[in-house]
Amino acid sequence: MNANLYALFRSRFPQDLDDCWLETDDAKYYSWRDLERGTAKIANLFASLQLPLGSRIAAQVEKSPEALMLYLATVRAGFVYLPLNTAYRASEMEYFIGNATLAVVVCSPINFGWITQIAFRAGTRHVFTLDEPQQGRNSGTLLSRAVHHADHFDTVHRDPDDLAAILYTSGTTGRSKGAMLSHDNLASNIHVLQEAWHWQLGDVLLHALPLFHIHGLFVAAHGALMNGSKTIFLSKFDSESVMRHFPRATVFMGVPTYYVRLLSDPNLSHEVCKNIRLFVSGSAPLLTETFENFIEKTGHTILERYGMSETAILTSNPYQGPRKAGTVGPALPGVSVRVMNQDNQICGIDEIGDIQVRGPNIFKGYWQMPEKTAEEFTEDAYFKTGDVGQFDSDGYLSIVGRSKDLIISGGYNVYPKEIESVIDEMPSVLESAVIGVPHADFGEAVIAVVVMRDDATLSEAALIDTLKTRIANFKVPKRVHFVAELPRNTMGKVQKNMLREQLGKC
Ligand code: AMP
Repeated sequence: MNANLYALFRSRFPQDLDDCWLETDDAKYYSWRDLERGTAKIANLFASLQLPLGSRIAAQVEKSPEALMLYLATVRAGFVYLPLNTAYRASEMEYFIGNATLAVVVCSPINFGWITQIAFRAGTRHVFTLDEPQQGRNSGTLLSRAVHHADHFDTVHRDPDDLAAILYTSGTTGRSKGAMLSHDNLASNIHVLQEAWHWQLGDVLLHALPLFHIHGLFVAAHGALMNGSKTIFLSKFDSESVMRHFPRATVFMGVPTYYVRLLSDPNLSHEVCKNIRLFVSGSAPLLTETFENFIEKTGHTILERYGMSETAILTSNPYQGPRKAGTVGPALPGVSVRVMNQDNQICGIDEIGDIQVRGPNIFKGYWQMPEKTAEEFTEDAYFKTGDVGQFDSDGYLSIVGRSKDLIISGGYNVYPKEIESVIDEMPSVLESAVIGVPHADFGEAVIAVVVMRDDATLSEAALIDTLKTRIANFKVPKRVHFVAELPRNTMGKVQKNMLREQLGKC
């Protein structure tokens, strides 16, 4: 049997290929036939480049139906897809392009010049552009070349363990790691989610998430593809347009920030949401206050689930049965989740410890980092998530913290170490500590605490301006505090808890 993920989705297309697969916010319609033919053309273009199977194809492109087709075509043609955040700047792109030894990079036309330079230096021979939605279709070189290829393509045979995608996660040491996900990792997870969330005939997904992250790509988009369901595809989240489309959708997935924004809109009501059967939240903790306010304003209980790039979805509050605020629910069928204490024993009920997981959805390791991969797995093949949590007496998991010190701001992961390294390189800076503090809109806001060198002068605005040229905007600290020295424990470690307590809010 062909384990290619595209073959699985293809087997779920509706019988009538002229049905609507995807509708955009500017009222463009794509049928399932368009999807089948569009991916065939791109797959044929890639096949014509004579790349070895398993070659890596990265995309740093704006969200568009064509970007989703590019992903599916890559997988269909037997290559490995690397989605990259559109906010990444030159130094970040240089690392990804070099580290992943890419065969092809697809970028926005506006970035073509500098990305080509980086790609060619790294030995990547093919750079294409994908049209920006506002510039009209087919303005990029990828589609204008693909148009000349056949619209039929035999989906390439892949084995279950062959790679389908690599997702780069930021590393605690500042170095990103590429999580290698196989066809079977992704297929097994979406099979389980389809049942767990009762995907059904007539479902319509309202898609407002980005496509470069597991949530938008492997949970939301895969869910609709697996169910042969239509997607209403928004180029980005904004409450007004999301609410305008609610009446025609049945499933909506978001990060907690989306729900906070929806709640601050006076038009949110029971009436607006009455057609939706499932609201899902994930990627960051959903505050109990948000969970409760949403019930009050809409009558809907948000279903919170937990997952990560390396594992796809691990636990979920039930579709039927109580959804508990502040928890991410029990482990999904087929996934084993355990919480371990410092003595490496399984924790009792309500005891806090390290979350470890095992199952068919767990990634194959970090790209070209065998030692790091070995470190992150236990002897009995559980993956150490880096999250800290506890189970209650009903088997519901709560996440209480992150041992790896990750900050999640607006649903995006920010690793303090990476930002600290960039700040510490500045000539006026002696050292720095970056922390996350609670923020009403973003969940957490990034804050930098900086110790200057004697006699050096540097303003908060100047530091932030410099950072904006070096790192993606979502990682740039919202505030910078200048202090005489950082608090340290006897082992010399910076006590970030003290900083969080002192600086409290953004
Ligand atoms: P990513 O790899 O970007 O998906 O980030 C994964 C991390 O997001 C996890 O390790 C958790 O720390 C966090 N996360 C995901 N879902 C939740 C959730 N529902 N509640 C709390 N943290 C979450």
